[in-house]
Amino acid sequence: MAPRGAECGFIAFAGQVALAQKNYRWGNQSRQKVELIVGGDFVITMNEAQPVIENGAIAIKDGKIVAVDTQDKIMAAYRSARRIPGEGMVLMPGLVNGHSHSAMVLFRGLADDLKLEDWLQNYIFPAEGRFVNENFIRVGEELACWEMIRSGTTTFVDMYFKPDVAAKVVDKCGLRALIAPSSIDFPSPGFQGWDDAFASAVDFVKRWKGKHPRIIPGLAPHAPYTVSPEHLTQAIQAARQYDVPLTIHLAETQTEVKDIQQRYNATPVQHLENLGFLDPRVFAAHVVWPNESEIALMAKRGVGVIHNPESNLKLASGFAPLPAMVKAGIQVGLGTDGAASNNDLDMWEAIRLTALIHKGTTLDPTTLPAKTVLQMATLGGAEALGLADKIGAIKVGLQADVIQVDLTEAHLTPLYDVISHLVYAGKAEDVDTVIVDGQVLMSNRKLLTVDTEQIRREAIRIGEQIKAELRPSN
Ligand SMILES: [Zn+2]
Repeated sequence: MAPRGAECGFIAFAGQVALAQKNYRWGNQSRQKVELIVGGDFVITMNEAQPVIENGAIAIKDGKIVAVDTQDKIMAAYRSARRIPGEGMVLMPGLVNGHSHSAMVLFRGLADDLKLEDWLQNYIFPAEGRFVNENFIRVGEELACWEMIRSGTTTFVDMYFKPDVAAKVVDKCGLRALIAPSSIDFPSPGFQGWDDAFASAVDFVKRWKGKHPRIIPGLAPHAPYTVSPEHLTQAIQAARQYDVPLTIHLAETQTEVKDIQQRYNATPVQHLENLGFLDPRVFAAHVVWPNESEIALMAKRGVGVIHNPESNLKLASGFAPLPAMVKAGIQVGLGTDGAASNNDLDMWEAIRLTALIHKGTTLDPTTLPAKTVLQMATLGGAEALGLADKIGAIKVGLQADVIQVDLTEAHLTPLYDVISHLVYAGKAEDVDTVIVDGQVLMSNRKLLTVDTEQIRREAIRIGEQIKAELRPSN
């Protein structure tokens, strides 16, 4: 690992910057004051015109990126009492996890190696009914935030229960989240069925819309096979009325396709189209089994897709036709899904699996090159979520949601192509610094906004309770 100076030491910039500072000696007074300057041997911008800036830096003010340039130019034009050096680091946009059920981390490893229908109906839904309460969500959400910050996720989509509890945790830990409470046609934690669950979700949306800089409320009818056409229509109408995003599980398994075909005489995406459901505010998780015309339809309607390769593999749902979706122009992001079907919230695994499995299924090693996949994990996700005007790239005017990744470990040495390294060799453990809205959440791998000891204790206690109830000792 590279020796890291104190944040204010800025040791790494010293050599390159000394000359620039000398040249600008007379202009020092006019250097604009900012709150934070962050550097990187490489700055990955996600900007087509200049995708990588070597020896780059960004200046941050009021939580936003106000300048992106080479380190010497940034230091010549800006001054800041707080600086994070960039030696041995790549500075890139934070990862966007487009599909998760965060608090399910507490069910991690509870039921593995089962078919989706069996897993969901016989294990997950009953366990949720029995154990999910406010305390479960608080502890699960805290555990998830710890794991996500540690691995460089800066924005995540949370499709789960007790959204007010989740929002409180997100507020405290400093991450950005699109919180879309799950609504379903049968009893779920705290609810009798659709009517009360959906009324509560709409109430959450009304109370949180535009109220918090990092929390975006949304709606999440669970899936076409668990929500009736009338209720799906109700959900999309409310999303339009309150102008919020809507997310849904869609075309996840062949069983779902058969089931929807039998019930409604249409394939899942076509079924939603028939209901007038599809528009750019909708982003769908999975979409493993769309046919060609459904892919064209989603592209035409501007529906985003979140690809969850690890969950699709573990539940043997299949391989999504991602190359065809990308070719059709669909905005694609990546997700982990809940930790009960993954079993973690590690976006680096999603990145690498996406870059690998589609090469295997197409028998074409040029399929989904590293750059395309890294784009999916950042800007692609932001676009699918409808947040690309705020996050997903390193660009002036966007929120400062960025991470530094340490390039000095053995598995990243030597270095020919930084994007190749991130996609094919990078690991969650390489993430060194995490910044959201200009606030440092992790520095030099030290978490600053979560009490990991306390969370670990509470999570273990809940795990023991679940274990004792599910497998009573005799
Ligand atoms: Zn899911």
